[in-house]
Amino acid sequence: MTHPHPHDVHRRLSVAVQPVPKQDAEARKRNFDETYIGFDVNAAMVEASRCIQCPSAPCQEACPVSNDIPGAFSLLEVGDIIGAADKFRETSNLPEMCGRLCPQEKLCEGACVVGFAIRPGGQKEPPVTIGKLEAFATDYQRQQLEGYPMPRYLPKPTGRSVAAIGSGPASLAVAEQLALEGHAVTVYEFWPEPGGVLVYGIPNFKMRKSIVDEYIAHLEALGVKFVCNTYVGRDITIDDMLDGQHDALFLGTGAGVGNAMEIEGENLTGVHKATDFLVRGNLPPDQLPAHLREPLPKLTNVVVIGGGDTSMDCVRTAVRLGAEHVTLVYRRTENEMLGRGEERKNAREEGVEFAMLTLPTRIIGDEEGKVVSVELQKMELGEPDASGRRSPRAIKGSEYVVPADAVAIAIGYGADPLVPQTTSGIKSDRKALIQVDEGGRTSRPGVFAGGDNVNGADLVVTALADGRRAATAISAYVATLPPRRK
Ligand code: SF4
Repeated sequence: MTHPHPHDVHRRLSVAVQPVPKQDAEARKRNFDETYIGFDVNAAMVEASRCIQCPSAPCQEACPVSNDIPGAFSLLEVGDIIGAADKFRETSNLPEMCGRLCPQEKLCEGACVVGFAIRPGGQKEPPVTIGKLEAFATDYQRQQLEGYPMPRYLPKPTGRSVAAIGSGPASLAVAEQLALEGHAVTVYEFWPEPGGVLVYGIPNFKMRKSIVDEYIAHLEALGVKFVCNTYVGRDITIDDMLDGQHDALFLGTGAGVGNAMEIEGENLTGVHKATDFLVRGNLPPDQLPAHLREPLPKLTNVVVIGGGDTSMDCVRTAVRLGAEHVTLVYRRTENEMLGRGEERKNAREEGVEFAMLTLPTRIIGDEEGKVVSVELQKMELGEPDASGRRSPRAIKGSEYVVPADAVAIAIGYGADPLVPQTTSGIKSDRKALIQVDEGGRTSRPGVFAGGDNVNGADLVVTALADGRRAATAISAYVATLPPRRK
């Protein structure tokens, strides 16, 4: 890549950031459509031209899958949108999803030089809007092609069979990479539809479901098989699957077990784990298991507990379900919140109230066991804990009660212990996180793992990066095996 002339850098830095059109808050409160309408072609080309083509590309360094961002933008700014999309697809299986879901301010955009440069007069501008451009280019390409781009030739079958357990980002990346090499891949999923967290964790207003549906159809066209409604560890074990059926196995079961508050009233009717609340609010019953098919009732006062992105998904879902008062309760201040600032801004625009430095102490029900209110207590911040975040301390006598006909608990997720418990030879820690080496190899030959069941709850893009690394290691592993008996 050639370094742009200093005059060109000066000109590029003088281009103002292009706003990303989004639905007005009042309109979007009444629908589940995507909040962001996204760039049009002209705005995307102008925005891409703000990239100064840094030779060291700190944005690329900060990207867990090392997307060639300046390479893509050099094509996009001259109108080669499909070329830009292909550039993103060289290193990422899910660019339209990462463009929507990554916390870019902590990754590529947080490292973008354009956001640090001081213009004449001391003026600063935001970094290049990398995520929304990635989503734009790859959406445009799929629209033009009416689907995901297929390889020119399908590979010759290798005769090897690999199973991926779970169908979230890590397993989907494994499936695509291995299918492109000619391996037969079967993906097993507990939920009724494939996609894992992409379907059952991400609300439609952040990413429309059709994007995942199209990607699954693309994988099927590559030969990947999906087996749903199958709980590996209960309905079938890893030991069974490796007994002649598959040559290798990838565990991508994620971290989908919602943490509990362990306070009084948590089992009342109307108190939901975050995922249950989100899926019942966002998906039609036929895409849900039997115990979650009943739609949520009409809600008036909703309290959501937690400070991450999932809690924002819950409050914004509650708003769209027509709740009159939606309150987010978090025991620290906004400075300690781990989720995206952009999501908090969207939630505030939609009328969500934030109760900071506030801890739920009990959930109160009526005689029929249905939630009616939540007791809250005010907190103050004390000394930093081991992670450097200041620990909240309760203020005695500050308790108060707020009405609630639904409570959603979104205080983090853990890994499901069932697979490590029911599989011989796999090492895991006390949080059920599976131990792997840098290629995703577990302690049992032929069994690989990656994503949230290895790292703990993390990002889509980190799971995707793990899946790509594991696919390379799985491919190398199956190549060492003796031929399969017919
Ligand atoms: S850091 Fe920003 S300006 Fe530099 S190459 Fe990346 S996107 Fe372009």
